[in-house]
Amino acid sequence: MKLTEEEQDETAPEELVAAFSRCSNYPKDKEGVLFLAQGLRKAATASGTQMAAIVARCQELSQYCPTDYDLLQVANELALLSRPRAPMGCRECQGSGWLSYVKHVEAAAGEYDAHYAEYCSCERGNYLRLARQEQARKNEEKKAAARK
Ligand SMILES: [Zn+2]
Repeated sequence: MKLTEEEQDETAPEELVAAFSRCSNYPKDKEGVLFLAQGLRKAATASGTQMAAIVARCQELSQYCPTDYDLLQVANELALLSRPRAPMGCRECQGSGWLSYVKHVEAAAGEYDAHYAEYCSCERGNYLRLARQEQARKNEEKKAAARK
């Protein structure tokens, strides 16, 4: 029987976190597991993502059992990445998601202006940074799969 997405998300968080039970740092007592489950539920609610998706993503990214902080971080990343398009940039990056700056360098060979660019700390900058990391991770996975 196949469950619909809605039904799937009704799986109790206590059952979902059991996916981490083989991790070396999985809580050893019932209370610890309960806290972990609560952390999962909170992360899902705060970010508007599904608990099952958060668990799957954590397993993909790490071989360790996540902390509350990890869960929230991963959930927020998922929420951002699932946007159909990049969010708006801010005034600081003039909407681009990038900050560029020039640094004056004095070296033995002479003086010159070096141009740097980095991701802005706004939503768009974060989105671009994440999307790029995700792309790099997928490429690595492909390479690893090809080696097998
Ligand atoms: Zn910005």
